[in-house]
Amino acid sequence: MNSADSESLARRLLAAGYVEDSLERADVAILNSCVVRQASEDRVYSKLHELREWKTPERTIAVTGCIVAKEGDALRRRFPHLDAVVPIGEYEPFVSALESRYDYSQGEALPPAGRTGVSHFVRVIQGCDHNCTFCIVPRVRGREKHVSMEAVVAECREAVAEGAREVVLVGQNVDDYRDPDGQGGLAALVRQVERIPGLKRLRFMTSHPQDLERELLEVMAASDVVCRELQLPIQSGDDTVLKRMARGYQTRHYRAIVENARRLMPDIGLVTDVIVGFPGETEAAYLNTRTLVEEMEFDVVHIAMYSPRPGTFAATKLADDVPQEEKLRRLNDLLGLQREIAARKTARWVGREVEVLVEGRDELQRPYGRIRQGKRTNILRAGAIAAGDVLNVRVLQATAGQLTGLPAA
Ligand code: SF4
Repeated sequence: MNSADSESLARRLLAAGYVEDSLERADVAILNSCVVRQASEDRVYSKLHELREWKTPERTIAVTGCIVAKEGDALRRRFPHLDAVVPIGEYEPFVSALESRYDYSQGEALPPAGRTGVSHFVRVIQGCDHNCTFCIVPRVRGREKHVSMEAVVAECREAVAEGAREVVLVGQNVDDYRDPDGQGGLAALVRQVERIPGLKRLRFMTSHPQDLERELLEVMAASDVVCRELQLPIQSGDDTVLKRMARGYQTRHYRAIVENARRLMPDIGLVTDVIVGFPGETEAAYLNTRTLVEEMEFDVVHIAMYSPRPGTFAATKLADDVPQEEKLRRLNDLLGLQREIAARKTARWVGREVEVLVEGRDELQRPYGRIRQGKRTNILRAGAIAAGDVLNVRVLQATAGQLTGLPAA
């Protein structure tokens, strides 16, 4: 979501004649913030402290993103060198104020207001109607607002016309998408977008086990464009913990979704999120999560230790009763388990031919990209390959996180 917001603001500024540059040369620094965990929020404060040195009367510092809804004008009081606090999506007044201060519209070398990236993020829902007890998102992003299908398709068309090869439809809970004009949900939207000529790949994130519809899996399975990857957070493998989290599903429901997805797409990439040490998570409850992770064989598991976020139900009503060292032990235990699973799963790709959408070159100038199931793939002896190309690669090696291969003959 933050990438989508950053892209949207950057495009607006590029259109006004601004260019991205190093901090040393820049007139304006904009921080897009995340507050989903305390660590992310602390990073924003630390950046703001660092920028104190950079700030001069001629320069502007702005903050946008979730911290604005959470902290509001308190940010200005705490950081007097901060010039602007910009609510998510309300960029126009800010850009107009910038334009009256720094007018680059007559510059000599106006950059195209287009894109350089292969992927384009399109926000289809803002906010979330769920109320997971640990989550601050509904408070900082508000209730769901759905973008019309017509507008989403138009934005995707424009992105492809400007060179994007992949679009990623994003929402806090993308499965809840409903066209405000009654044209249908996410499956209908995906069907419309995948038909756009020139579009090579379509992804969507993040899914919710309570809302993911069978029809969507069928659309994925039947398509050559929709990627075979699901971002489907489980959060816990224990039903009592899931209930305290107010996730709205049980583990048997989650297992049934995965079973169905794998029946339709045996090689589907599966990414999940897990929180360890949630209030009341006993050793037995943790072991249920461990068993589920072992059984599901996820490709990627994002694991976080629970930390109370002020303003959430869990922070105010549930005792944070799992000691920090125990949270850490569970985190490390699960990380170790998942590393083994990921290495074993990735090794299954060795010897196979995969289709890679090239995204760029790494520091060794090797092209890299991703397969439709989401794995990053490095390409050796690739020759004149450019970002946006799609090519078949024979996989030679695999580590837990990535594949390496040669262009297939
Ligand atoms: S569904 Fe996701 S974004 Fe919405 S409240 Fe739950 S965790 Fe937060």
